Amino acid sequence: MGGDARTRLGAVEPLDRSTIWPYRDGEPGELYYQRYSHPNAVAAERALGELEGGETLLFPSGAGATTALVLGLLEPGQTIALAEGAYYGTAVLFATLERWGLRYLEFDQTGPSPEGVDLVWLEAPSNPFLTMPDLESAVASAARVLVDSTAATPVYLRPLEHGADFALHSATKYLGGHHDVLLGAVSCRSAEDAERLRDFRGRTGIVAAPDPCWLLSRSLKTLPLRMERHTASATELADRLRAHPAVELVRYPGFGGLLSFDVADGETAHKVETSLRRITNATSLGGAESVLESRARWEGDRVPPGLLRLSVGLEDVDELWADLEQALA
Ligand code: PLP
Repeated sequence: MGGDARTRLGAVEPLDRSTIWPYRDGEPGELYYQRYSHPNAVAAERALGELEGGETLLFPSGAGATTALVLGLLEPGQTIALAEGAYYGTAVLFATLERWGLRYLEFDQTGPSPEGVDLVWLEAPSNPFLTMPDLESAVASAARVLVDSTAATPVYLRPLEHGADFALHSATKYLGGHHDVLLGAVSCRSAEDAERLRDFRGRTGIVAAPDPCWLLSRSLKTLPLRMERHTASATELADRLRAHPAVELVRYPGFGGLLSFDVADGETAHKVETSLRRITNATSLGGAESVLESRARWEGDRVPPGLLRLSVGLEDVDELWADLEQALA
């Protein structure tokens, strides 16, 4: 078999772990060495690219996608305006990259983005504060715009259609959808950016392996169905949590499976975490199984001590509520 991703023996895409493909008549073909690309990446990138409406590249994690994008497309001394309250790890990563001349500042993404920056980094909705960015004003600014739309997914937001230059995902979350894939993705509006990023990815080797790409292709087939169910259950749980006397505040943007709510303090949050029977007390989000955790353990005083992040899975919503109710009692 050659290296053409469309060459299929069955109805389902085969998993191809080859690292090399033979030259034809002494010439490398479309695929020749796995670090530059491979059939399962080509297939998953094509499928996600169709959903996002732009050329898409996969990376071994969301953090890997972020690293490749800022190192590959920005210059030392350039500045990123990062949405305040966005995924904590993104700010930590930017701080780590300051050693290489990267600069960043944080701003309130619900308002206009700061002047004089090179890249505006939005998150839709932010994790764990669940704010939505003012994308319209960001794309009207002089800077390039990236939307981390991990929690929205292309089912609810296609940032490139709104004028963003890039859409980024931790595909580890809803796109993978089962807590068993670590992957990142960047979709680009311009073919030139995609080419530069592809070149940088191949040179640096920040590449996704065939197995997770194969799993991603499989998972994307059920993405709209899963998101519909995540939204229905999360909407119901957000309503019930709002009416619960032990809950002080619920943050939910009205779509998707991610929400956060505040209980009185850190001690109460710890009690909720350790009383759960059905919902797993673990990090991450976007999987079929619901997970809940206090974010203060990671983010310190950046979040209220009683903030609990809940990723609503695909289980029966009444069973999930029964578990939350007994844990909050
Ligand atoms: N972006 C968001 C919004 C996330 O929630 C995460 C991880 O939690 C990341 C990026 C980083 O992704 P990964 O864990 O796949 O490296």
